[in-house]
Order: sequence, then structure tokens, then C-alpha cells
Amino acid sequence: MTKVGIIRCEINEFFCPLTSGLRCAEQGTEGFQYYENAQVVGIFTCHCPGNNVGELAKILKSKGAEAIHISTCMFASKNGSGWTLVGGGFCEKCDALMETMHQATGLPCIKGTAHLPNGFTPSIPYT
Ligand code: SF4
Repeated sequence: MTKVGIIRCEINEFFCPLTSGLRCAEQGTEGFQYYENAQVVGIFTCHCPGNNVGELAKILKSKGAEAIHISTCMFASKNGSGWTLVGGGFCEKCDALMETMHQATGLPCIKGTAHLPNGFTPSIPYT
């Protein structure tokens, strides 16, 4: 069991309760495919311009998170044939946010929760 924290974007805050993301964590699928399964220890919403994500990540770490995932909708979007990287997602600075969180905590930061875009495999760039 790997403990993870999730950062999501405020743009989706009142539309998505992360139901699929929580299920994928439990099952070790999609963005959580590197784990046998994962326990979500906490979820924070990022608010523009995202200046406090390092602090949010530190709190997630203090709650036991061993890795931090950003929600798929931050870097991908849905079209008629499913989720795609084309056009990006809600946030233009995902990589910068992830680097900030990694610098603040030393934890790996990973792109993705549920419904990964076709052909996208999550990497762990900040370890
Ligand atoms: S900085 Fe990015 S992730 Fe954070 S609220 Fe703004 S658009 Fe969303």
C-alpha cells in the first residue's frame, strides 16, 4: 500500500468529486499503475496562481504521502473520442507546480489520476 496525496485544480472543484481517481488509487490503475494499490491520504485544491502548492504538498507529506499526483484534468482534456493531451488541460504550468512540490517535499510528483489520455504513460519526473 502506497500513500499518496492529490492536487486538483480549482476550475474543476465544483464539478468533479474525484470519484474515478479514488477508485483508480484503490485499484492501482491509470495514474496509480506503479502501485499495487494506493491509499489517498489527502486532497488539496490548487488556487491560481498556485503559489502555495509547495505548502500544500508539505502538509500532504506530513499526513503520510509518499508521492503526490496531479489530477488528469490539469494537463489533459476530453473530446469526442476520450481524453487527450492535445490542447492541454486546465493548467498551463503543471510542470512548474510539480517541480515546486518536489522541491518543497522531496517526494515524487506524478501526472495523472483517472482516465489517462490515450497513449500516455505516467512518468515520475521529479524523484
Ligand atoms: S495554477 Fe493551474 S492548477 Fe492551480 S488553480 Fe491555476 S490553473 Fe488550476
